[in-house]
Amino acid sequence: MAKCPECESDLELDGYELDVGESINCPECSIELKVTGNDPISVSLAPEE
Ligand SMILES: [Zn+2]
Repeated sequence: MAKCPECESDLELDGYELDVGESINCPECSIELKVTGNDPISVSLAPEE
């Protein structure tokens, strides 16, 4: 299961259809994350702009 790199909470993304490059927000800390892979799902911090 993917974890938020910021707060390390588990992200329950199973069943979601996420595309690489898509942005999501962590439900715990609300930080913006970018989907970097989908098999398995992995995320990284979105670059701050
Ligand atoms: Zn988080």
